[in-house]
Amino acid sequence: MKKRQTIILTDEQIRYINTLPFSYRQVTRKAMEGTSLRAAIKAKCLDCCCWQRAEIADCRVPNCALYPYRPYKVSRSRVTKAVL
Ligand code: SF4
Repeated sequence: MKKRQTIILTDEQIRYINTLPFSYRQVTRKAMEGTSLRAAIKAKCLDCCCWQRAEIADCRVPNCALYPYRPYKVSRSRVTKAVL
């Protein structure tokens, strides 16, 4: 498999990353460097939901292209167990 080429971040991107909640800086950096599609999806969903994990789990936008891939989803088996 071809390895992704790391993108050198600009000063503006680094400044942006430093404004984010500390625990989400690494994933955003990976996303912006282009080294992880998974990180890119996670960073986008976090940005979309103002860095609130619960909001991503509760996302109600099935028309969003990232909807099936969003992180922090509650698995169906967990929901089923909780209901039973
Ligand atoms: S899947 Fe939901 S949380 Fe993620 S980017 Fe789309 S609308 Fe936002």
